[in-house]
Amino acid sequence: MGRYLGSSCKQCRREGMKLMLKGVRCETAKCPIEKKQRNIGPGMHGWRKGRSSDYGVRLREKQKIKRYYGILDRQFMRCFRRAERIKGNTGENLLQLLERRLDNVIYKLNFAPSRKAARQLICHGHIYVNGRKLNISDYTTKIGDKISVKKSEKSSKKIKEQLESNTNFTTQSWLQLSRENNEATVVALPTRDDIQIPVEEQFVVEFCSR
Ligand code: SF4
Repeated sequence: MGRYLGSSCKQCRREGMKLMLKGVRCETAKCPIEKKQRNIGPGMHGWRKGRSSDYGVRLREKQKIKRYYGILDRQFMRCFRRAERIKGNTGENLLQLLERRLDNVIYKLNFAPSRKAARQLICHGHIYVNGRKLNISDYTTKIGDKISVKKSEKSSKKIKEQLESNTNFTTQSWLQLSRENNEATVVALPTRDDIQIPVEEQFVVEFCSR
């Protein structure tokens, strides 16, 4: 599977917002968005500000979602086609499918500091779904899925350290976490209000339906 190997902070600067791609660092003053480069995009012409075309506005919204969830174009378009086939609002369906990805769920449960770190936990076999090891980070979770951590000293230690390092975190209403045994259950599907990314999903639908 292809993956983006460039700078994460550049992606945030391009979108002009915090995409929270680097875990703990994103909360500190080291974040470039918090510094004076706040409104400066990457590259030597980053300071230039022109008026965006309709196409440009829609492209930026699509890129924002893609970068927020850390996926590439092909995966994103596959997800969009899937969202189109589901009844209802395609934009909301798309966000819901992305939110239900296993790597995002692991991040939302605070088992990992970022989605990238969550993908690593999954690929290294630390995560079990319904009692079976699952190393597919784009698995779409369903209501009733039980997510647990491998019963080994190394895995439990990793998760314990992460849970202790970030005490401010709040569990999502659609996930039920049991801290004693590091187990969680998907109790509902996420709604638009549970998805915190400030994006105009209608623009994304218009962009992808061209
Ligand atoms: Fe984005 Fe985090 Fe880098 Fe800030 S520190 S620019 S939020 S990746």
